[in-house]
Amino acid sequence: MTDPVVTRFAPSPTGFLHIGGARTALFNWLYAKKRGGKMLLRIEDTDRERSTEAAILAILDGLKWLELDWDGEVIYQFSRAARHREVAEQLLASGRAYRCYATPEQLNEMREKARAAGKTRFYDGMWRDRDPSETPAGMKPTIRLKAPLTGETVIEDQIQGRVVWQNENLDDLVLLRGDGTPTYMLAVVVDDHDMGVTHVIRGDDHLINAARQKQIYDALGWDIPSMSHIPLIHGPDGSKLSKRHGALGVDAYRAMGYLPAALRNYLVRLGWSHGDQEIFSTQEMIDAFDLPAIGRSAARFDFAKLENLNGHYIRQADDRELLKQFESVLDYVPEGVDLKAKLNDTTRAQLLRAMPSLKERAKTLIELISGAYFIFADRPLQIEAKAAALLTPETRALIGRLRAALEAVTDWRAETTEAAMRNFAEQNNLKLGAVAQPLRVALTGRTTSPGIFDVLDVLGREECLARLADQAAG
Ligand code: GLU
Repeated sequence: MTDPVVTRFAPSPTGFLHIGGARTALFNWLYAKKRGGKMLLRIEDTDRERSTEAAILAILDGLKWLELDWDGEVIYQFSRAARHREVAEQLLASGRAYRCYATPEQLNEMREKARAAGKTRFYDGMWRDRDPSETPAGMKPTIRLKAPLTGETVIEDQIQGRVVWQNENLDDLVLLRGDGTPTYMLAVVVDDHDMGVTHVIRGDDHLINAARQKQIYDALGWDIPSMSHIPLIHGPDGSKLSKRHGALGVDAYRAMGYLPAALRNYLVRLGWSHGDQEIFSTQEMIDAFDLPAIGRSAARFDFAKLENLNGHYIRQADDRELLKQFESVLDYVPEGVDLKAKLNDTTRAQLLRAMPSLKERAKTLIELISGAYFIFADRPLQIEAKAAALLTPETRALIGRLRAALEAVTDWRAETTEAAMRNFAEQNNLKLGAVAQPLRVALTGRTTSPGIFDVLDVLGREECLARLADQAAG
């Protein structure tokens, strides 16, 4: 029997859940699910200035919204500093690490020298084999790994393949700083080991760290987890995704009205493919996902594609589920407060009735909200400029006559109002569109809306007649 799979997502709290981080989390989550394993969450909060409560909450919030749940308690890296120190001491005791008393000036000098000689290894090993009796008094040493000077460090990466570093190019890493705080490199190795992580799946900006971490694993006699370094996400122009391409935080995508399922589906296809399938249910994703199928080249973020995919998910969504999403996004959009105040049993029922028609026209929840404006609008309606241009003396007169015709409908349903309107158009020798458009303007204040018969049905007799009276002439 093979060991159960344990993956982890290990974000540094930077203020938001980065969209690339969300994809990393998704890949870890999928792989754990596929293998019947666990995904753990470790917050790498050792940078005390950046790691605020708000920054941590933003990550937890983003993951919850994306429905990427983790197993067990959240692990906070900072709280494990004593354990990290203990491992550094252990390496010291076994002779695989040493105390280094080099001064900042000496280190600078070494760095300059290495640069001039075109070498990447800069530390000259001055304290590697020194006798402890030579240690200067009153100075707090760093603890450095006694890394191999010759040979190779090799990572068999599930995505990048076999990656080889010459040890002569790798420095003796600092494990513990002079003030006793662990370095990132040590903390990650100790945490991954103690958490029983079997698979590390992360951005390929950490590939070089994998080599350094491998040296620490070797010194400790620990097995290194399976490594998968996924290519970063690039912008449409091929450069690394940055603010100038668009939003970076998952919270921003939420506020733009994307559905979590659509964003997950979009993200899974960024760098991973399964034939030419584009749409995946969660279960299909889990079943099809595998690490070697992740490509080696950077994926380009395609905003239009995300929007189209979101439109697909909106159209496919269950109406009640969509109503829930509609309500939950109100906290994130400017018009939210207003709309929230108007949500009640009546408007919810109206929204549900309009949903089949609304969702055909919306690629985002924001467009859905905008399409639903007519349900929440107060009388007299604010008429959009483009729509107002259609309200001429003639069309206002027409609205008045049409109102009279509709007033005669007592059993108010989509079919009966439609019949009345068709009748009216015929009698006045008008095309249905010539009647429908002024009617739409009077009822919704816009030139586009869900089908006019749906609008009539959703608003109900009394409200329709009142809105028509507001715009009718004479
Ligand atoms: N905390 C690192 C980051 O946010 C990830 C470290 C890792 O996955 O090993 O980039």
